[in-house]
Amino acid sequence: MPERIPEALQEKLTKRLTFYQDIGIQLFYRDRYPQQLASVTEEIILPEPVQKPQPVKPVVETRPAPPKLEVFPVASGPSLFEAINKIPDDTLLKIHTDLGDCTRCKLHRGRTKLVFGDGNPKAELVFVGEGPGRDEDAQGLPFVGRAGKLLTQMIEAMGLQRQDVYICNVVKCRPPENRTPEKDEVETCSPFLLRQLDAISPKVIVCLGSVAAQTLLETNRGISHFRGEWLDFRGRKLMATYHPAYLLRNPSAKGEVWKDLQKVMVVLGLQGKKGSQAGKSS
Ligand code: URA
Repeated sequence: MPERIPEALQEKLTKRLTFYQDIGIQLFYRDRYPQQLASVTEEIILPEPVQKPQPVKPVVETRPAPPKLEVFPVASGPSLFEAINKIPDDTLLKIHTDLGDCTRCKLHRGRTKLVFGDGNPKAELVFVGEGPGRDEDAQGLPFVGRAGKLLTQMIEAMGLQRQDVYICNVVKCRPPENRTPEKDEVETCSPFLLRQLDAISPKVIVCLGSVAAQTLLETNRGISHFRGEWLDFRGRKLMATYHPAYLLRNPSAKGEVWKDLQKVMVVLGLQGKKGSQAGKSS
């Protein structure tokens, strides 16, 4: 008679499996390596029918190293995002519903409102910040405080309106005292950001500050090493630039951010078109 799993553990497992489903992981034994390597992997995973005991093949040694990011090596451990597939026909509404009244990480304890994101669901340009601050937590909207006002000015200087773009954060709940989100909080919340980005499918993602950039690029390199360069994120163009809150403390860095945003404007065809729209019909 097989031993029954204790109820508390069953509940924990169910919660964890539901979480994986919410973030788009449906298969747990998916081959995480490129198709062309499938034959090698299959040979390892599916042993030929045998009549007599065969020596066990060394699985780990024969597996090729997982592909690494072109620009930066993964900071440590396996890639979080590599296992997450794009969910067909995913929408912001479904993602918001899956997040629900989220209690998946400890940040929920201190929040007033969860800040999902705001803007054009078909935006060509998405800004990703770090996490809600006091004003955002109170209103349930991203970038509505002082840093948000500066971001709005920057968006308008690009010839756009806030409603043309989409704005969201790595974590959806305010960290206590606006501290930097912790690793477990980022790991729990960022898969929902990934779903948002996949659902919106923008031409350009602008990461505001190091938390957003390091999260999406899965690196621990300092933002100053790659700020202002075009980088790849799951086949999309990603630009990292300084956070507006940093600019409030260091106004002399505004020029560098403006140069970065001008590069974005070129890609979006906004050069010299003040008042033009970077949203695919909202
Ligand atoms: N800072 C962020 O990173 N996000 C916000 O929404 C507000 C301030």
